[in-house]
Amino acid sequence: MNSTLFSVLAGFAPFIPFFFILLFLQRPKPCPDCGQQLPRFLSPLKKTKRHWIQGGCICTKCGCDVDTAGRKVTAGTALRLRPLATAIVMLTLLCGIGAVLVTFLLQR
Ligand SMILES: [Zn+2]
Repeated sequence: MNSTLFSVLAGFAPFIPFFFILLFLQRPKPCPDCGQQLPRFLSPLKKTKRHWIQGGCICTKCGCDVDTAGRKVTAGTALRLRPLATAIVMLTLLCGIGAVLVTFLLQR
């Protein structure tokens, strides 16, 4: 493995623990309608626009639409854009950290 590829991969290192913390330390919540444990992962093909922007999932047992806090979402609920703005800021910060690390490692 050459040093440039290693440096680029090392630049992405801060993302790995971030996603592990994000995905595996959250406890699955029960469905507000049927009590079934909600899935940790939702297929990108099944996600709605609201799921991509705000998060949340669909109960596999009853099909109830649930937000990230485990509350039922009714059909006419408006989108909240604050989670999207937060995600963009966090992604920008992580990309900045990655770019700085790559720059330091490439200067060797
Ligand atoms: Zn359910």
